[in-house]
Amino acid sequence: MKIKIITLGCKVNQYESEKIKENLIKNNFEITNDTSAADAVLINSCAVTNMAIKKVRYDISLSRRKNAGAKIFVLGCGADEISKNSSLGQVVVLNKENADKLLNLLTEMRLNAQNRAVATPQGKFEQNHTRNRYFIKVQDGCNNFCSYCIVPFARGREKSVPIADVLTEISALPETIKEVVLTGINLSNYGLDIGSSLAELCAEVDKLGRKFRLSSLEQHIITPKFLSELTRLKNFQPSFHLCLQSGSDKTLREMNRHYTAAEFIAKTKLIREAFKNATISTDIIVGFPTETDADFRETLAVAEKVKFAHIHIFPYSVRSGTVAEKFKQLTPSVITARVRELTEIANKIETEILSAHVGKTLTCLIENKNQSGYIGTSAENFDVIIKSETPLELDFYAAKIIGVSWKKLIGEVKNA
Ligand code: SF4
Repeated sequence: MKIKIITLGCKVNQYESEKIKENLIKNNFEITNDTSAADAVLINSCAVTNMAIKKVRYDISLSRRKNAGAKIFVLGCGADEISKNSSLGQVVVLNKENADKLLNLLTEMRLNAQNRAVATPQGKFEQNHTRNRYFIKVQDGCNNFCSYCIVPFARGREKSVPIADVLTEISALPETIKEVVLTGINLSNYGLDIGSSLAELCAEVDKLGRKFRLSSLEQHIITPKFLSELTRLKNFQPSFHLCLQSGSDKTLREMNRHYTAAEFIAKTKLIREAFKNATISTDIIVGFPTETDADFRETLAVAEKVKFAHIHIFPYSVRSGTVAEKFKQLTPSVITARVRELTEIANKIETEILSAHVGKTLTCLIENKNQSGYIGTSAENFDVIIKSETPLELDFYAAKIIGVSWKKLIGEVKNA
């Protein structure tokens, strides 16, 4: 039986989809990329914005148009929201309480389809194992309840994976996996529920000898002690994604985020003192309901001051069930104009940062190849297109940076 998996949203969803995929393959289901050939379509959904929910609805109707006979399952953070919408027709919704029933339901479907041949595992699975970067979920849930966010309701309270289990999972990876990314919904709070900490987890992961990096962090984790522990690790890749969300203290308060812009900026300075070459990227929400033009100007000022290597800009969209739903909302035109303004500044800073790397030699992990060259990621988390006269493996290479092209570095590897 063939299953198509559509993954929306964050790295945690990507990780969970990979786990579902592995489990299905282990149970003799075949993974397909072709919706029209699938017996079931699994949509691992995201609920972080209204746009994300719209995308789930769109994927449901697109899948149905492509293949009216396929059974559609919706999992993940958007499942509860989708279950309220009866106009979507027959969809099996699996929320956090019943997500573990997926395999039973699919097995039952397969038994009922006795006239179909049982497919063998192939194709996509092998492709996944040639990928050389692995996202591992070490934590789930969030206790923060930011006023705009539905995730704590959809995912529940914080829960960390024990260190021993994380180490076992990483140790079992094939040697072709060269880098591991530790992900979580609120990664900074890793370990608080099990008497451990993110620093302790990093120290243990480091001993496995594989390069690793951290996904999104909250500013509170950045302390001199935490950074000094990271600087001692041989395999830590120095890129930090630190969520700002707003540069206005007033907006941060209304978002229920417990820091000021000055405190955030101080944390970025600590990072740069500890890691000379560290890149810092961020998430910013534009058009939070109470955000005035003056508040937005403060966000622009923080963006200019910190010089983020990349800003992931989220136009605010109301999520039902959140505190911010009750606030008077801004008009879409105000939000669009602010997004445009921040995007221009973000692009300018990003280009400046990339250009400053021309002439340097960066260690890059080659992950793919296309007509432009080899596609890689540097230790600092820059996308790099690498030219080489000799064939390169999916491995680490020192690349001399010779240019910049639309948010990517261009590098060359000589005498590989
Ligand atoms: S920290 Fe805030 S934005 Fe992030 S998942 Fe938790 S509640 Fe949502």
